[in-house]
Amino acid sequence: MAAQTNKHKIAFTGKTSATRNVIRFTFAIVLMVALLPLYILNTLFSMLVLKAPIKRENWIDVGGDVVELYSWQVGPFKSSANIINVAMGQVHFVGTPIIRGTTSIPNVKRFKSPCEKAGLYDCLQLHRATGLVASDELTLLEAQAKHNCLQDAMMVLKLVVCKALYKKGGSTQGNSQMFGIPFANTKMHDAINWVCQSEQTQTNCRVGYFLNVNSINLAASNKALHSTLCASDKNFVDGSGMRIAAQHSGIDLADNVNGTDMLPLLCQQAVQTEQSLFLLGAKEGVAEKAGEALQEKYAGLDIRGTHHGYFNSDDDIIEQINQSGATILLVALGSPRQELWLAKNKHRLNCQCALAVGGLFDFFSGAIPRAPLWMREMGLEWVWRLMQEPKSKFNRYVIGNPVFLFRVFILKQSIRGL
Ligand code: UDP
Repeated sequence: MAAQTNKHKIAFTGKTSATRNVIRFTFAIVLMVALLPLYILNTLFSMLVLKAPIKRENWIDVGGDVVELYSWQVGPFKSSANIINVAMGQVHFVGTPIIRGTTSIPNVKRFKSPCEKAGLYDCLQLHRATGLVASDELTLLEAQAKHNCLQDAMMVLKLVVCKALYKKGGSTQGNSQMFGIPFANTKMHDAINWVCQSEQTQTNCRVGYFLNVNSINLAASNKALHSTLCASDKNFVDGSGMRIAAQHSGIDLADNVNGTDMLPLLCQQAVQTEQSLFLLGAKEGVAEKAGEALQEKYAGLDIRGTHHGYFNSDDDIIEQINQSGATILLVALGSPRQELWLAKNKHRLNCQCALAVGGLFDFFSGAIPRAPLWMREMGLEWVWRLMQEPKSKFNRYVIGNPVFLFRVFILKQSIRGL
């Protein structure tokens, strides 16, 4: 019976893969027909300069294998010749990530891809475009390998939109500033290393904030918040609005370093480096629930204490945090209260590092569901949050986003005027 089911499965997968090949081939031919004027133009250009119209270029996939792709020698959209490789079945539209060149690039991890063939597009490109750090590369590719044709097409569409929205091409320098506030242009991994770093270079607890559209809008009219953000030990840049602002300031952001994507990775690193956490903030019982959920997911995670965020006496809370011996403090009191609270009290805190994390515990306790991956992939988490809490988030997003874009416009004009 089991053998029969297996046979069935193989026959079925074979069938689906054959169908997919037919769909892929048909789509490639349709695209080539649509691009025929461009193909003719490029061929004419190459005849004019006495060159063969098409050349072969070497690419390398994540496993280290070389993939040959066609490219036009002369003319616009040279890589449009890649579609010929798809029609010939040498590569897929969506598949294993490839990089131009024959030698491996340092810092690029090599691993065996779960995808059948190399692809012109892949989910890692999409995640790089928005700086999303949702999962490790292999897990993302495993999910991609299970896509059907429609999901592949949707992914390519998202990628095209995101590449247009969050164009790259600026500077990638580590320390920069926007709206007069300094920030660290870091990868998520480096941000977590900074939080978990146990050698103290200063006597006070190190403090890190996440700069997002809301905190920038608030800081524009709240001088205390502006100077607090300027005086932090590290600011991370969070969200698609900030990515657009960075792009207009000529900066390419390394990652979207936000608290929600950071927390799972931070918990893993905290277990490995034997750091302990204290969760302060949110409504009664929420931090406790978030702590329990995290401990269940990350075995060995040391959460020394939790407290809700509606307290009057700072002294009692600080006493409780210090008594707990926690090395990392997460403060979720909402902006600007959390930043101002940390700035006022950091010299009294014994922990190594404290982060202001907004509504983080609401997500991890399950009180508010997190945006689906496709929305996060497109930098649309804010739309989800607006849908979840339309009344309380109306001002922040419906009014705040256009105001922020206007600030970006002013920022761009001032940079041009320099
Ligand atoms: N909060 C708090 N004490 C306060 C005000 C707010 O603990 O005095 C909590 C609130 O319950 C919520 C979080 O702070 O859990 C703020 O969430 P918000 O969505 O505003 O943060 P964001 O992530 O958008 O910055």
